[in-house]
Amino acid sequence: MASDHDDLHVTPPATVAGGLGATRSIASYCMDHLGPVRSLRTLSHLNQARGFDCPGCAWPDPADRGFIELCENGARAVADEATHFRADPAFWAAHAVDDLAAWSDRDLNRAGRITHPMLLRPGATHYAPVSWEEAFAVVGEHLRALPSPDAAVFYTSGRTSNEAAFLYQLFVRRFGTNNLPDCSNMCHESSGTGLTEVIGVGKGTVTLDDVENAEVIVVIGQNPGTNHPRMLTALQAAKRAGAHIVAVNPLREAALVRFQHPKKVQGYLGHGTDIADLYLQVRINGDVALLQGVAKALVARHDRGEPALDLPFLEAHTTGLDALLDQLRATSWDTLVAASGVDRPHLEATADLLARHERIVICWAMGVTQHVNGVANVQSIVNLLLLRGAFGKPGAGACPVRGHSNVQGDRTMGIWEKVPDTFLDALQARFGFDPPRAHGVDTVDAIRAMRDGRAQVFVAMGGNFLSATPDTDVTAAALRRCALTVHVSTKPNRSHLVHGQTALILPCLGRTEQHVTEAGAQFVTVENSMGVVHASRGNLPPCSPHLRSEPAIVAGLARATLGDEDPVDWEAVADDLDLVRDHIAAVVPGFEDFNARVRVPGGFLLPNPVRDALRFDVPGGKARLTVHPLPEHDPDTLLMMTVRAHDQYNTTVYTPNDRYRGIHGDRRVVLANADDLDRLGLVAGQVVTLRSHHAGQVREAPDFVVVPYDIPQGCVATYFPEANVLVPLDHTAVGSQTPASKSVAVTLHGGATEPVRDAAS
Ligand code: SF4
Repeated sequence: MASDHDDLHVTPPATVAGGLGATRSIASYCMDHLGPVRSLRTLSHLNQARGFDCPGCAWPDPADRGFIELCENGARAVADEATHFRADPAFWAAHAVDDLAAWSDRDLNRAGRITHPMLLRPGATHYAPVSWEEAFAVVGEHLRALPSPDAAVFYTSGRTSNEAAFLYQLFVRRFGTNNLPDCSNMCHESSGTGLTEVIGVGKGTVTLDDVENAEVIVVIGQNPGTNHPRMLTALQAAKRAGAHIVAVNPLREAALVRFQHPKKVQGYLGHGTDIADLYLQVRINGDVALLQGVAKALVARHDRGEPALDLPFLEAHTTGLDALLDQLRATSWDTLVAASGVDRPHLEATADLLARHERIVICWAMGVTQHVNGVANVQSIVNLLLLRGAFGKPGAGACPVRGHSNVQGDRTMGIWEKVPDTFLDALQARFGFDPPRAHGVDTVDAIRAMRDGRAQVFVAMGGNFLSATPDTDVTAAALRRCALTVHVSTKPNRSHLVHGQTALILPCLGRTEQHVTEAGAQFVTVENSMGVVHASRGNLPPCSPHLRSEPAIVAGLARATLGDEDPVDWEAVADDLDLVRDHIAAVVPGFEDFNARVRVPGGFLLPNPVRDALRFDVPGGKARLTVHPLPEHDPDTLLMMTVRAHDQYNTTVYTPNDRYRGIHGDRRVVLANADDLDRLGLVAGQVVTLRSHHAGQVREAPDFVVVPYDIPQGCVATYFPEANVLVPLDHTAVGSQTPASKSVAVTLHGGATEPVRDAAS
């Protein structure tokens, strides 16, 4: 059934981010979900030292926090969680699962906070309330009935706190499996894999100070205006301190062009701050070629006798220089310009900036990692930093920016299907059991295991698995094949509607809510994108007396599954999180004296061998320069990247608008280059079917409206989760198995033309 596109209207893309538009958006969303008093009460505690951590992205808090420390999308994420709307038993009784399946993601989310544990029994049409004891028993029975612990999958989304994550992995490993996939598998896994191989640490190597004190900042494959908005404050501070910024993105994102700070008067009255000095509108997946082009220009300067390469650093701390120099000298400019879609003057100008400065930070996100060659993209970024000696000094280094508040912390807590033996050894020493050693399944392999019937129980700690993952139809069939699906959630989402024979929704406390037990007021901890671990204390009364904290839910699942004889005192650790932190201090490096250090306002910075000591924990102790081939694409297809609209956070859709890109009222749109449309005989407003092509397989997504847009030729952009059905499960990054959602080969197939209202009409 074609959806109507009557509400779609297109305006010219914005050329500035922040300002009045952001403030208006915050006000309208918060008034709708919270009202004035609750808005003030909630937002005034957001990101404060004694307040709660934003459930949005993982951008760090500045040392000098303002009275209000938030961005537009952080405020909406909080309003969304603290909303007064309720998805209570009456809601579920009124709406059958099949009816809810026809709702939009936005309307599902807007239903509000889930107030009771809900059970969908085999054959039932409606979820019904259930007691916690029965809910835990249902899970315990299903898990104990499995032929093997490996027939269960335990997924984690990046909102889960450190304490809950640590207990979750302990429960799962005591149950007997390493099947601990997480959302990191789908986002920065290519960063972790790529960095670990060449510099020995899978995390970024900079602090917020480094970004603000850099001389050159390259922002590649990232749209901070939507996905990490407070980063714009840091970019503005760096610009004001004289930094140069280079933006690399197929789309001209408003926030990378100009920023008006909504917390400053000038942000309303003044011009704001021009962000990018150089804007390189790279072709989709043209990053390796672009990075090699910049490196080639540096090497050419070096060959001309200019000090463009940090030779003392390269000789002392790296290997592989000769092979890289040979490749760069041998690859022609024509090849690199054609493959990157960026002209030589821009590549040379970027190299010029790098050659003239030492304090260089390169920031990136999904536009770098979600490609078949995602690992090569990351390592090509590291090549540039190594050529300039930009590691282990202030204002320099690698900055993969995490998009979920505690995704990095969860990994640090052991949420990883292939956690190192050192972690398992420490767990064994602390808890006196032999944890499973065989690697488990990551997200893509988990879907395969459920699809093939090898996994029959799926448990998700947060998130919206179905909408976040690729190959939607395949993932849906896989989930439906399970005997049991369990979601620890705060609000209804599509994953609750695509379920196993039996399905459970377990409602947990939110980040904004007080967590009080017999042991007193509790707080949780998180780790941000730059390795700072800090406390988070909710200030609002729970929206329902029937909620439980994530740690208490894990404890209930563990006790019901492992039995009363299990030696871990699950009830005690769920009641007093200081006990969990003592366990973490004993097992996880860098968390010594955890309880005392995290009580210091602002928390503490985890050690990082590259940042702190220029130590590269790779074989031989020297960072590796690497050589990578240029990726190839079928010229008869277009390359599609799935992106977030401005009014969404991950899979949560706030409104059907994408204000900065000028798309309003509709999300089933495909942004395409006007010359490509002419070549294909398609026009603005035409409704098309997208087909993706992979290994002889074709996937279809009908009913997308064509919108001509400033995007390089051969490239198109769509929103996820709508376009995830086109992303093949097997289309993943080499080495990290991250779904390659940012470069999918597609074709457009024309249908009727819809009258799209543009700014004029
Ligand atoms: S930048 Fe990220 S962490 Fe900060 S308020 Fe915005 S969404 Fe939240």
